[in-house]
Amino acid sequence: MTCIAIANQKGGVGKTTSAINLATALAATGMSVLLLDLDPQGNASTGLGIKPSQRTKSSYDVLLGSATIAEAAIPSCVPRLDVVPATVDLSGAEIELIDYEARTHRLDRAFQDSGRRWDITLIDCPPSLGLLTINAMVAADCLLVPLQCEFFALEGLSQLLSTVERIRSRFNPGLSIIGVALTMFDRRNRLTDQVSADVRAVLGRVVFDTVIPRNVRLSEAPSHGLPALIYDHRCAGSEAYIALAREMIGRLPKAAQAA
Ligand code: ATP
Ligand code: MG
Repeated sequence: MTCIAIANQKGGVGKTTSAINLATALAATGMSVLLLDLDPQGNASTGLGIKPSQRTKSSYDVLLGSATIAEAAIPSCVPRLDVVPATVDLSGAEIELIDYEARTHRLDRAFQDSGRRWDITLIDCPPSLGLLTINAMVAADCLLVPLQCEFFALEGLSQLLSTVERIRSRFNPGLSIIGVALTMFDRRNRLTDQVSADVRAVLGRVVFDTVIPRNVRLSEAPSHGLPALIYDHRCAGSEAYIALAREMIGRLPKAAQAA
């Protein structure tokens, strides 16, 4: 199983939209996929049509040890895509975990116990570098970093990268960055072109070739509880996520690609 955390402490850059639509695109290739919602906002769960009444076990229970990942995972509206949903309880978890031993490794342990039945897991992280995101980084094989094409795109990235470096040296030496995905690209806005060129100049090949356009269908789909790939599979946003998934699979270790 490969575990990919989708992280950027900046809010609203497209983490959840990427998590939902990449998970759907991966499931469409025949892989069995788990999306673990690690954001108290629960947007990934809602965007996949998981109702609050269905969230009897959640990522909060997984972190606190009152449910295994297998017990908390429920099927979504997408074939082969399961979800560990999030509830607002999760917002208290960072404080509650302070008293727990190995508080940075709770999710990693949970995966070792029961998370290996899926080919690939995506973790939707909250917009912070707190204990929730650290748990995701300790458990993950790699990170996917969405970066919004706007003037301050690179701001905060050095903080993210130094956190990754600390996690590598202390807890998870194998943690890699599978890629940086440029999101909300707007052809009509010359600034976004400039930002995308600057980001590529600074970060080089880690930036995916595929760029996610600003696309209204991507923002409408969650209100229908559907991934954009199902809501309108032919819109520019869906096509871009299918291309991004393909590019991401190409960067996975060979064994994982064959899954
Ligand atoms: P948070 O940090 O709050 O968790 P996030 O990084 O998960 O946010 P999203 O929730 O995916 O970001 O996106 C923020 C908002 O922008 C949402 O309303 C979403 O529908 C919209 N959005 C995301 N990507 C696109 C896009 N490519 N085109 C148009 N709208 C988008
Ligand atoms: Mg989000």
